[in-house]
This record gives sequence, structure tokens and C-alpha cells, in this order.
Amino acid sequence: MKARFTALKGAPDVLPPETHLWSKIENAACEVFCAYGYDEIKTPILEPAELFLRSIGSSSDIVAKEMYSFTDKADRSISLRPEGTAGVVRAYVEHNLSLRPAPQKFFYRGPMFRYERPQKGRQRQFYQIGAECFGTAHPGMDAELIVMLMAFLEKAGLRGFSLELNSIGCRQCRPAFKQRLKEFFGPHLDVLCPDCQRRYEQNPLRILDCKVERCSAVRAGAPLISESLCEDCRMHFGTLLGLLDAMETPYTLNPQMVRGLDYYTRTVFEVTSGQLGAQNAVAAGGRYDLLVSEFGGPETPALGFAAGMERLSDIILSATASGQAGPEVFIASVGGEAAAAALKTASALRAGGKRVEVGWEGSLKSQLRRADKMGAGHVVIIGGDELKSGSFKWKNLKNGESGETAAGEIFKLFI
Ligand SMILES: [Zn+2]
Ligand SMILES: [Zn+2]
Repeated sequence: MKARFTALKGAPDVLPPETHLWSKIENAACEVFCAYGYDEIKTPILEPAELFLRSIGSSSDIVAKEMYSFTDKADRSISLRPEGTAGVVRAYVEHNLSLRPAPQKFFYRGPMFRYERPQKGRQRQFYQIGAECFGTAHPGMDAELIVMLMAFLEKAGLRGFSLELNSIGCRQCRPAFKQRLKEFFGPHLDVLCPDCQRRYEQNPLRILDCKVERCSAVRAGAPLISESLCEDCRMHFGTLLGLLDAMETPYTLNPQMVRGLDYYTRTVFEVTSGQLGAQNAVAAGGRYDLLVSEFGGPETPALGFAAGMERLSDIILSATASGQAGPEVFIASVGGEAAAAALKTASALRAGGKRVEVGWEGSLKSQLRRADKMGAGHVVIIGGDELKSGSFKWKNLKNGESGETAAGEIFKLFI
């Protein structure tokens, strides 16, 4: 019996025409990020498991439940990366990139892995585009990164998205806030979900963004971090908001936003879109001023964000008519002798950036039918008669115009 395979659950194929949209999104990212001085970095998908335990934090859902980890043949504990920042920070420290002039700016794109229950918009293998900036604590860099993210989303074709912001404090002011949270939640501990009971001990901040209903009911009236920020954090956040105002970048303050990862300090933000029904996060990020030194590098303030490709493309796709159209030119090649002329003509057009398809086989009628099905813009016909006369018949399938043009001049039709 022949074998017939299916992809693993939660690890879907991405097919055309969706891949065209993905390319468009990636190109938009490269173009915008480059203008802001970001260069691409490619870090491995496999990393030591310890890297994520140390950065994301053992209290996070990712490390507690969702890591793809295994032991390799040399008995090392390996993980498929669940997010991009830890690998970039490791590379920054490992290659002493702090010795290069600050700020150092990188962007990345590629698959991430989390063992979650697969559902619409949430896969076990998913793609992210992200950016990380190292070496400046100035809130101007927070503003610049956020403005860059907005420019990228806009260029990628996303509309109607909104930005939410918060500051979650620093090493100085957060311990006291955690203490206040523990005092607040302590009397309600038995009502909280099991995850939050664990968070209460390890990182009570995370109770603030638990999605379980009884937890959100309990936290009404919980103390706000904004009331506990130290003077430096307050100034930092205030300056950032002033800069966003100056850039006329609209935002909403969300005093309960804490983000899922332990390593964030000060600024955290999330971009959401309401276009697929419920408000969905399409990108999120924040500052992580302590992570580089925790990875053994020099104290280096840093910040970044990641955007989810699947969700971005779903939303953009739902808002636009279709993905990629068919070929701009379909060359119907009839008879054995036409092949060389068809290939030559196609190559000349392709060199000019046109998307061209050659119909290598079948009758003229069946090739024309195929061109139509593919949604081609033009058809050029090359057969015995055309080779003899040296001019090719063509038809514009969109407006019905047709004519005949010398073989060497065909490219002029499509300028
Ligand atoms: Zn602070
Ligand atoms: Zn909870």
C-alpha cells in the first residue's frame, strides 16, 4: 500500500496565494525596518532549553506548559524556540555585539513553536517578524520602535488597528508593587484559577492579565502599577507618551497590561485589531533592560516587539479582495517549433519583472482556457503561422483588446 501523509497537527502548510501576501508583509517589514537602521539577524530554531527557562521565566505559561523540548543524542536539553528575543539576546552577548557602536538594531523572521491546543489563529508552529534594539534607555527609542511598528503594519496593508501601552516599572519599584498585589489577592486565593494560584507565588503581576473569568472578577479594584512607579519610571513613561503625542500616534493606556513574559521592564505595548471579530493582538513588545546582563553581557538597556504572521495575513486577507492574481502574460505555445520562441519571449518579459506563464502543451483552445482560469492579464500566441510571419497575436483578457505585434516588440505591450 502506498503511504499518504498529513502534516502534524498545529503545523500547517502555508500555500499560495497566501504566501504572496506573506512575502508582501515581509517585504514591507524589510523596507521599513531598514529605514530605521535595523539589520536582519538569523538565529537558530534550536537553542539550549535553559536559555528560555532563564529569559522567559519559569512562571510563564510558555515555560510551564508550552515548550517543545527534548533531549538529544548527547543528552543535552534542547528546545525549539518559542519566541525570538532570547536567541537574539544570546547572539548579542555571544558575539560581543555590545562592542559595536550603540544602538545595535536587528530584525528577524521565522517559525516559533509552542505546544498549545491548535485552534484558529493559534498554531504550534507559527511565524513571527520581530525587531530588537540594544544600547539605549532613552524613551525616544521606545517611541521610535513603536512608530516603526505602526509604519510597518500600515505598509503591510493592515487598517484599523490600535495601540495599548503601559509601564510595568523596574527593579526598584516593582518589588513593592508585587507585594501590594499579594496583599490584595491573598484573601481571594481560593477563588483564583490554578494558574493564578501558581502565579501568586512566582509572579503575581501575571494574575492581572489572566483570561479566566473568575480571576478578572476578583481583580477589579486591584492596585495599579501606575500608582507604584518610581520617579525614573514615571519620567520615562511620561516622556514616551509626550513623544507619541508629538508624532500624533494614537494610543490607549491600559494599566492592567503586563505581558506574558517575565523579562519585561518599564514600557510594554500591544497592537490589536478588531477586524476578525474579537479584539486580537497582532503585535506586542516592550523593554527588557535586565535581560542582556542576566545572559552574562554588560548592563544593556534593550527593547523590541514581535508580530504574528498568521494573524496579520488573516486580517489583511479578510480586508482585501484576493491574494495574488494570475500571470500578467500567458504565452500559448502551439507546436514543437514554437517552444524556443515561447521560452525566449517569456525570458525577455521575466527579465523585465513580468510574471509569465508558458502553456507548454495542449491545443490552442485548451491553453487559452487555462490562461483564463489562471486569471492571466494577456495572452500571446506563438504557433506555426506566427513563427513564419515573425509577428505574434496577442489579447488583453481584461479589456478584450487584441492585435498583432512583431516578435521583437512584444515587450513594449506591457510597459
Ligand atoms: Zn521604577
Ligand atoms: Zn487566573
